[in-house]
Amino acid sequence: MDIQKIREDFPILSRTVYGKPLVYLDNAATTQKPRLVIDSLVDEYYSVNANVHRGVHYLSQQATELHEASRETVRQFINARSTNEVIFTRGTTESINLLVSSFGDEFMQEGDEVIISVMEHHSNIVPWQLLAARKGIAIKVIPMNDRGELLLDEYEKLFSDRTKIVSVMQVSNVLGTVNPVKEMIKIAHEHGVPFLVDAAQSIPHMKVDVQELDADFLVFSGHKIYGPTGVGVLYGKEEWLDRLPPYQGGGEMIQYVSFEKTTFNELPFKFEAGTPDYIGTTGLAKAIDYVNGIGLDQIAAYEHDLTAYALKQLKEIPDMRIFGEAVERGAVISFLVGDIHHFDLGTLLDRLGIAVRTGHHCAQPLMQRLGIEGTVRASFAFYNTKKEIDTLVAGIDRVRQMF
Ligand code: PLP
Repeated sequence: MDIQKIREDFPILSRTVYGKPLVYLDNAATTQKPRLVIDSLVDEYYSVNANVHRGVHYLSQQATELHEASRETVRQFINARSTNEVIFTRGTTESINLLVSSFGDEFMQEGDEVIISVMEHHSNIVPWQLLAARKGIAIKVIPMNDRGELLLDEYEKLFSDRTKIVSVMQVSNVLGTVNPVKEMIKIAHEHGVPFLVDAAQSIPHMKVDVQELDADFLVFSGHKIYGPTGVGVLYGKEEWLDRLPPYQGGGEMIQYVSFEKTTFNELPFKFEAGTPDYIGTTGLAKAIDYVNGIGLDQIAAYEHDLTAYALKQLKEIPDMRIFGEAVERGAVISFLVGDIHHFDLGTLLDRLGIAVRTGHHCAQPLMQRLGIEGTVRASFAFYNTKKEIDTLVAGIDRVRQMF
């Protein structure tokens, strides 16, 4: 991989902040966009813009073709069996809310249970809590060890005859842990229970194959995989999606409407009420093409190397505490240094041009488990370099000396 050449594809990476070269290490929050993704958004508005589906005119048909071709790009990328299984949403959060709402309405009654894990993002906790408030379901939580690995023995023990679904992230946005979701899905299926994979933090970094995982549902956001904001995906096995009621009502999702009776559209449109972000889906497809062009295997190997280098360098800093020491880990490192407040460290690093995230990372229950309020988080993408890691380490050292 020619990183310098790759970096040239991302215009924002050459900007400065406070007169310093930008060191962008907040990729778990959102990734930067290659020029061809940005251009595709502008180009489509310039030359193809028209509302999709049902249009008889040329532009509408062209826009529809682009939109549906993007669905096919996503299908291939995650290896879904059919484009009927690829629902476009606004992102991971909306995908999970859709699923919780539809699945909860159809398949869960008071006293039924969902299993999630202690390291989940709020977007995979709060929708279940809202459902619990509405329907009286119970939420069971898989614990982890001090390295940040889920305890599979405890997971197995959580199943009961009231368990209706399991919903767990593939990669932690805080600890970097890569959870063994394939094995966990197998266990769920042995109990006859479907499994939702939150792939928000895995999809940009590793090959995600829904058939290989045997995932029943899988969700991700376009903006975390170099695509535009406002577009995401809910994958669902067709046999499940067929049985679920619509989430939102409106145009696009209907077959026939009368005041007496309304029938719903077929998959995937049943779950896509209203005008979709068809410009965004084209951008997402371009981003996927770009990632495919580099190759996920190469990306994974490069980022693995970069993360190992960062871990080694960071551990040499006195008073460094790293949260998340799982054997299988992704390109995210959360840490605290001595008594320095995470917010102070993040703010001072920012003044050096280094963009990291601070706080609870939308995982407050995990912070409670760790006994802390928040961390500083550096998260990497394939356009980051060892030199940038050195800048981070030097920056932390400088801040340490100030305290
Ligand atoms: N799940 C995980 C693991 C995440 O890291 C995030 C975002 O940080 C989300 C869900 C929510 O994604 P979005 O805000 O794009 O809906």
